[in-house]
Amino acid sequence: MLNKIVLATHNNHKLQEVRDILSPLGIEVLGADEVGLTDTPETGKTFEENALQKARSAYQQIQVPVMADDTGLCISALNGAPGLFSARFAKQCGGYPAVFDEIWHQMGNNPDRTANFTCCIALVTGPDKADEHIFIGQMFGKIDSKASGTHLFGYDPIFIPDGYSDSCGVLGPDVKNKISHRAKALEKLCVFLKQS
Ligand code: IMP
Repeated sequence: MLNKIVLATHNNHKLQEVRDILSPLGIEVLGADEVGLTDTPETGKTFEENALQKARSAYQQIQVPVMADDTGLCISALNGAPGLFSARFAKQCGGYPAVFDEIWHQMGNNPDRTANFTCCIALVTGPDKADEHIFIGQMFGKIDSKASGTHLFGYDPIFIPDGYSDSCGVLGPDVKNKISHRAKALEKLCVFLKQS
């Protein structure tokens, strides 16, 4: 089984989550900064395409097993937005927490507060199509009417997972890493690694 994988991200929150989940399994995760990866523009039309673009580009740069994750918050009342554009949308709105105000504004009084995080992880272990693998995880919940918590990763302070009454910003990594979109995608990746 692979015991060292590069995660093609400069996002330290993401890197920490993936490390927390994979290191108990004996898998060391290196970040993009540690191996000197340069960024790839996200031009895909799906989470899968974007994740694969990032992982392929990273593999071409360093020729070691690489994974990349593309994640988005999909809000039912906004027809699935910001979805694929979650990072760009946050940036356009002035970052976090400014983007929360824009979300509340666009949702207005819509009674449907349901949303999900979708995470797509691409693993690339070689130059061929057969070396490319995709793992998807989702976490369902709802958009809160306030931001809460001290765990300030992206949209976490306004997202309450189903079965909980607090946001991911309050719940923190101990809970989130058991139920999250990323944890579920990584679970599938681990099953694959154990079998290969
Ligand atoms: P990307 O996958 O790096 O493109 O992330 C898309 C956007 O969603 C970024 O603005 C991230 O900060 C945010 N994001 C990614 N993963 C999570 C998460 O697990 N919780 C909250 N926000 C996230």
